[in-house]
Amino acid sequence: MTDFNPAGFRQQFPALSQGQCYLDSAATALKPQAVIDATVNFYTQEGATVHRSQHRAAQTLTEQYEQARVQMAQWINAPRSENIVWTRGTTESINLVAQSWLRPRLQPGDEIIVSQAEHHANLIPWLIVAQQCRAHVVTLPVDKYGIPDINALPALLNGKTRLLALTQMSNVTGAMPDIARAVEQAHTNGTPVLIDGAQGVVHCPPDVQRLDIDFYAFSGHKLYGPTGIGVLYGKTELLESMTPWQGGGKMLTQASMTDFTPQAVPHRFEAGTPNIAGVIGMSAALKWLKTFDLQAAEKYSQRLATLAEEQLSQIEGFRSFRCQNSTVLAFDIAGVHHSDLVALLSEQAIALRAGQHCAQPLMDALGISGTLRASFAPYNNEQDVTRLVGAVKYALDLLAD
Ligand code: PMP
Repeated sequence: MTDFNPAGFRQQFPALSQGQCYLDSAATALKPQAVIDATVNFYTQEGATVHRSQHRAAQTLTEQYEQARVQMAQWINAPRSENIVWTRGTTESINLVAQSWLRPRLQPGDEIIVSQAEHHANLIPWLIVAQQCRAHVVTLPVDKYGIPDINALPALLNGKTRLLALTQMSNVTGAMPDIARAVEQAHTNGTPVLIDGAQGVVHCPPDVQRLDIDFYAFSGHKLYGPTGIGVLYGKTELLESMTPWQGGGKMLTQASMTDFTPQAVPHRFEAGTPNIAGVIGMSAALKWLKTFDLQAAEKYSQRLATLAEEQLSQIEGFRSFRCQNSTVLAFDIAGVHHSDLVALLSEQAIALRAGQHCAQPLMDALGISGTLRASFAPYNNEQDVTRLVGAVKYALDLLAD
């Protein structure tokens, strides 16, 4: 393992070759050449299906597809590759747990604890299943900085609590709640925990066994992999207790006109021809990521976010919602609407995002209508910070005229 070399890292992202100032990695990460090559190679040279056809290419690809599952299990220290279900992304992973694990267990009056800092992907599936079963979503409040208040958890846990849903890292503030403590407290009450790792997996891949996480959901596209591929990790006994959510080809061992027998885990949750290119690309992303000192890379992007925050804080009315050491810098400027500012920044080729960031309840808790959000990755550099700060100042001058 060598020290992190920012210029060498950046060079591997063809999307940056035109000098784009990309500060939207919390929405999706750009793709390195290694991932692009693996995906192109799949379509140009190896194209075939998996787990179905008998010909040689299909056999080879099935091996690669399953080997990628092993790699992914190692990435989060899952005990076995069977604990990894391929999904379309975090959203689908959470909906799978809501419909396939929780729904059959949820009685009228039961409770699901969800923090107020959650992305809608880790709220709406619980509201849907609560409505289906006449159960309730109970709010785990956030503190004044928007961080889920784990101290408030014990008072919310009771005999009716069926699940705790919590983010590993907020996509707005970058806050990383103490999930080890949350899991411990929930387990004392016999309550399983689902952790939304969409943001966290990039910055701090968890050891799901050490943290004793029951379900862990994340997306490939934020981890430098392709879009449309994601993961649900589940403990063996939980996955094995789940009935399939979607039916179709290859999720069963036998079918008649009146019944079917589901496949073993995880295949019973992967109905239909899967996103093979996505899995191949994801596998390339994990292999590529292993060639870097990711902790050093993380520190480097944190420093860029700190630099941007320091420089922007010279601007009158600047307010930051960033948690310490986060790579995500959500901010607003008093008297300026975030959508006006983002439009002007976009005209200056600064790619960032403004709005509620799919976290409306968090915006309500913070008493704001939205923010701008600059999110930093190790392929950014100090020039990006300078460009962002210059562009914000220029836009504010235009708005003041
Ligand atoms: N949770 C968090 C914290 C996120 O940031 C996102 C993506 N913005 C999601 C869930 C949903 O991920 P996806 O859209 O890839 O399913």
